[in-house]
Amino acid sequence: MADRPRWFQTTAIDYPNSRPHIGTAFEKVGADVQARYRRMEGCDVCFLMGNDENTVKVSKRAAELGQDPQAYCDDMARQFREVWDALDISYDVFIQTSHERHKQCCRKFIQKVYDNGHIYKGKYEGWYCEGCEEFKSDKQYDENNGLCPNHRTPLTRRSEPCYFFKLSAFQDRLLAYYEANPDFIQPETRKNEIVSLIKTEGLKDVNISRRGEEWGIRVPFDSEFTIYVWFDALLTYITGIGYGDDEETFRKYWPCDTHFIGKDITRFHTALWPAMLWAAGEEAPKKVFAHGFVYIKNEDSGAVEKISKSLGNVIEPMEIIRERGADAFRYYFLRECPFPSDGEFGWARFAEVYNSELANNLGNLLSRLITIPAKNYNRVLDGTAGRVPEPVVPGLDLSLLIGEVREHVEGCRYNLALQKVIQDLLTPTNGYLEANAPWNLVKMDKDAAKRVLFNAVQSLRIASILLKPFIPRSAETIYTSFNFPQPWAEVKYADAAELRAQPDDLRVTAKLVDAKVKPLFPRIG
Ligand SMILES: [Zn+2]
Repeated sequence: MADRPRWFQTTAIDYPNSRPHIGTAFEKVGADVQARYRRMEGCDVCFLMGNDENTVKVSKRAAELGQDPQAYCDDMARQFREVWDALDISYDVFIQTSHERHKQCCRKFIQKVYDNGHIYKGKYEGWYCEGCEEFKSDKQYDENNGLCPNHRTPLTRRSEPCYFFKLSAFQDRLLAYYEANPDFIQPETRKNEIVSLIKTEGLKDVNISRRGEEWGIRVPFDSEFTIYVWFDALLTYITGIGYGDDEETFRKYWPCDTHFIGKDITRFHTALWPAMLWAAGEEAPKKVFAHGFVYIKNEDSGAVEKISKSLGNVIEPMEIIRERGADAFRYYFLRECPFPSDGEFGWARFAEVYNSELANNLGNLLSRLITIPAKNYNRVLDGTAGRVPEPVVPGLDLSLLIGEVREHVEGCRYNLALQKVIQDLLTPTNGYLEANAPWNLVKMDKDAAKRVLFNAVQSLRIASILLKPFIPRSAETIYTSFNFPQPWAEVKYADAAELRAQPDDLRVTAKLVDAKVKPLFPRIG
């Protein structure tokens, strides 16, 4: 198995100062499709996620709740993982940055960068609030007329010693890297933003230390300071696969194939991060994919809003999962919200998409193809062993379809991949059933009806394979409702590219009550 291609991907790690909302989940679901697809294609996959815990906000939040920050972080990590597990996010590694192993490996990295001469001591000057005990940005200063946005007291000019990372020294190398690796920043629009930003504003050295904080990771060469949270957070991508204490695993998976992140943090990942790695003598990641945001459709006003606590429109993933299951959640966001750009969530639209594509299209096709054979053929389509199904969709070139779906999945255009499966395969298969009406035909010509059913079932085999990375549970339910010979764990996209005979007569193996199957996606009423 040593020659299996390896695939390493990450999502952004989350601040645990509040529970994940549907926007946070959007990223994880999109990344999960990729991980599942790569596993199907035979890759040795490592999928890393985690929580970003060494922030002042986290320790403040814990203090507000009267909790020990570590206990708070561990409990939040448990709550995050509960949501990710409920959504069937197939991560392999979950990193908490407050854990000792990460801290140790992080210190080794920063020491290396320091020893290589890319960190120097300087002075940070900026606008400071005594009450907040933190610096405010020039933008915050301007927006609040020189007052602290929280305390409404005047900000004071303050300068204090700090450590800088020589980001400016990597500017030319970064531009050359973008040039030589045109796919490094995806989608293209994000890349153009970064390139023009660097060319017009240039890169400044970054203050990577904080003074006087208790919570956080100590700078190894000066214990008066802690490491700036961004510097430490980015390092999870390597400490999570063994950097610092498991060289073999680290070398196996690094460099990263894709970092999935929100578009607002593109700069940290495409400029600071590669420069940090080079400063420590490591390779830059191969790709950073910046996905879009989910907005909330306010159904009263019709307005499209940012998800925000202050607007009171936060929707937790569990609200949807509890009602309709993980696959309905995954399907909606993957189908309705284009991963590279933005999307919207609204309950009415959710019901529409769910009913038309999951309940009435895919779900209905499955129900019919189980129920008719169960009622009329005692579940077994006799004499179909060894027979190759006839095409049910006129003019559909399966290899071409699979090639297109594959390309969309690899390009993270999940909405287009799903659209193909629905429009080119499932809708026409439903049309074939309507045209041939096997529920009537069976009364007149049992053999002819059997042929129709046998042919149509093949579309479910193909669809379930193509949908496996998207709606893993339902896809498995569909596939295992029939006696397809290939084990579900072994199916690949290539297996969907042809109509296949099978050794035994086709048989319905689904659990039934009185020849009826429980609807896979019960209609939203
Ligand atoms: Zn303040």
